[in-house]
Amino acid sequence: MPITAFSSSRGMELDVEQLLARLAEEGAQIGLAQASPIPEEWKSHIPTDLECPSCFRRGAEVVRAGRSKADGQVVRQAYFRFGKSGATTGHHPFCDFTGNVPVGHIPENLVLFSTAKDGVSRAVRDLVCKGIALHIFEQRDIRAMREWFFRQKQQSQFVVTLEPGLPAWLESLRRYCHWTPRRSARHFALTDDVFKIPAFDFKAAARTELTLRYQAVLKEMFDKKSSCTV
Ligand SMILES: [Zn+2]
Repeated sequence: MPITAFSSSRGMELDVEQLLARLAEEGAQIGLAQASPIPEEWKSHIPTDLECPSCFRRGAEVVRAGRSKADGQVVRQAYFRFGKSGATTGHHPFCDFTGNVPVGHIPENLVLFSTAKDGVSRAVRDLVCKGIALHIFEQRDIRAMREWFFRQKQQSQFVVTLEPGLPAWLESLRRYCHWTPRRSARHFALTDDVFKIPAFDFKAAARTELTLRYQAVLKEMFDKKSSCTV
């Protein structure tokens, strides 16, 4: 669940508290008390304005921080929910927040600059802040870059239409059969006389039988492997 969302009308990324404070400020109202319900006007504005930071779909709902009844401490962080209801479709299937991801989950391609402590994140945070302060770029540009990245990801997806058990079956075929292009396996009948041969290697016979049965598949695998290693 994302803890920030992009406000398209304001051109900035906001967390729930920042959004509620802005809405109060814009409506010349005093800030919303912790237990006060969100005004209906705000509720209808939020889904049409706030975008998911990963897939840019709208339809956000605010889920406020959960607080302990005993001491008022925050026990659950506030977040934005993009559920499927009515006209809202929820996250895109390729969105990093699709599924049951925990609140505050940071996808691999995003960095939470507010808390990231490592040197590279700090340096990038400083550059981003300076770039915005000097009006070299603005938050909309950063959002546009993320959208470009998401579109790239979408365009490079492809559907694999493969029987799920096939790779494992091919691997066991490769492991158990001994097929080479130079020495073709020869079929021989398993008669009673053969069974009477002391220490007859049934495993080797079974492998030969399997090799004969799937010779074409084994040849194809051998050719593909050869062409890959050339
Ligand atoms: Zn999303």
